[in-house]
This record gives sequence, structure tokens and C-alpha cells, in this order.
Amino acid sequence: MWKKTALFWLAAGLVLGACGNAAEEAEPNGSAQTTETQTTDAGKPAESAQTAPAQQTPDTAEGTQTPDTAAPEETAPAAGTETDAPAGGDAAAPGTAGGDAAAPGTAAGEQTDTPDADNAAAAEEVALEYHMNANYDIVPNEGSGAPKKIVLLTFDDGPKEAKMINSMFDTLDKHNAKAIFFVNGYRVKANPDLLKLIDERGGIVGNHSYDHIILRKESDAEIKKQLEDTQAIVKETIGKSPTFFRPPNGAGNDYTEKVAKDNGMLSMTWSVGSLDWVNQDDSQAVIDNVFDQLHSGSNILMHELPWTVEALDELLTKLEAKGYSFVDPRSIDTTKQP
Ligand SMILES: [Zn+2]
Repeated sequence: MWKKTALFWLAAGLVLGACGNAAEEAEPNGSAQTTETQTTDAGKPAESAQTAPAQQTPDTAEGTQTPDTAAPEETAPAAGTETDAPAGGDAAAPGTAGGDAAAPGTAAGEQTDTPDADNAAAAEEVALEYHMNANYDIVPNEGSGAPKKIVLLTFDDGPKEAKMINSMFDTLDKHNAKAIFFVNGYRVKANPDLLKLIDERGGIVGNHSYDHIILRKESDAEIKKQLEDTQAIVKETIGKSPTFFRPPNGAGNDYTEKVAKDNGMLSMTWSVGSLDWVNQDDSQAVIDNVFDQLHSGSNILMHELPWTVEALDELLTKLEAKGYSFVDPRSIDTTKQP
């Protein structure tokens, strides 16, 4: 227990990393559809896609906030693309993940394949000490005594490349940080091993829709399919289902929130956008954008992009120097809707 708690805090420390305004993904949660652009002071994401200007970055991002457009990664893959996914996807043995967790010789019942064997990071028990508020910030539960000066690290649009993923985890590990990796189903289909890599290295996998399309523009049936197909392929690949959902470009609506909730997920956009999708190939800008908007509880949006990977160590180092720690996503109570 003590050990777990200590691990938890270590992890919490790391999360601080990125920030910038949420321009690209833009949509604020609940109000979603109506206000795409509205970035609250907190830097909520403005939905860039549709309304370019919208993305006014919150207080911080002065000039940087360019419309989301830029982000290459955000471009939704053609609907058809998913087909290229190897049919073999199901090959991903569902059982693997959980299976090996069966710790062979744990004291008591050696044969019990209880997942909580200490070997599996996934099995770590983490106390639910935080929840998300209406600004998408992560705040301590009342009376938990957990520190407020934390940040949540999130990386969207993967999995893309083992080299970047490993580099990100090398840095996260160095800072004892955990992060949410919001993945797209079509990418998982194409590279199931990369999702397994994220899971094996301790990343918390989130659902970012199947095709990275603007869900708000889709029918209810399509929205349901986008979320549930992604839940299914993630479960099939790593043996567990995401508990966090982030709509592409922040463009969700009441129905995306309902489907997410029905599937056991907490919907979020972000409160600090690193603007790494705008300031391409500029790692310093990633850091500056985060610090421009930084505040306790910052829900920092970043992406699996080379310049972000490059900026990560310095970003986390500076956040720690400022007294921030990185919240473990697993400590967020996803059943508490803002
Ligand atoms: Zn995205």
C-alpha cells in the first residue's frame, strides 16, 4: 500500500508536461456543440475545425494559436482507410495482456491468476483521488488531501511509430510520469503492436474515435460506431477497454458524451493546448505554449509528433522545477462527470 502510494505520487509528478491551448480539438465538453470556439479562459479547446477563429487560445497562447487546421495528424483519415487494416487484427490475442499477469508464484495462492500480481504495472492499484471539473481540469476529490498542483499529460492521434513511442516513455519513466494516449482505431488496426507497446510501457490508453473524423457532423449511428469500434479493437489488442474518451478536434456533442458514458468512459477535451499541431517542427514553442497557459490541474493536450517528443524532457523538467507533479490518469475517478 505504502509503496503503491509512493509510486502513485511519483507518477503524478510526471504528468505535468505539456500545455498549449486546445485549439485543434476544440470542443468544450458539455456545451459542446454550441460553442465550438469558446475557449474558456482555462484554455479550453476551441474547435478549430469548423470555425477557424474559434480557437482562441485561452489567456495564454497569444499568437500561437493558429487554427487547428494545421495539425496533420488531426486530419481525419478517409473513412475508407480503415479497410487497409489487416484483417488479422483479431489475431491480436486478447488474452495475452491479462494472461501473463497471472503471477506464477505469488505467495498465497500461487495458482491464482489474479491480475494484481505486482509484476504487471497495469495491476497497480491506484487510489481514486481526483476528478475532472467542467473546465476539463483535474482536481483533487474533496477531502482526499491529494495535491492540487498537478497536470495531466495526454498525447493524441497515435499510435504511429515505435521510435517516438519509446522515446516518450523513456522520458516519462525518467520523470516517473504517466500519461493518457488517445488513439484512433484505424491506427490500432494497422499497428496493433504499437498499441501493445504503449500498454506494456505503462501508458493509459484512451479512445479518440476510429477514423479521427469530426463526430459532431456525423449521425448518431456513426458516432456510436466510431466509439464502439475503437473500444472493441483496443480491448481485442491489449485486453482492456479505455475509460477516457476525447473527440477529435474537441468536437463532440451530447450524443458522443452519452455513448462514451454508456461505454464506461469519461469524455474530455483539454484545458491547455500545446499547439504542437500548429507550431510544427518547433519544440521550444511546445514548451512555451504550455507555460503560457499553465495552471493547477492543467489537462495538457499534445500529440505523438517528433517535435513534441523532442520537447518532452525539458518540458517535464521545467514543470517539476515549478513545483508541479504529474497526475496518474488511473487516479481520476471517471465515473464523476463534471
Ligand atoms: Zn486528434
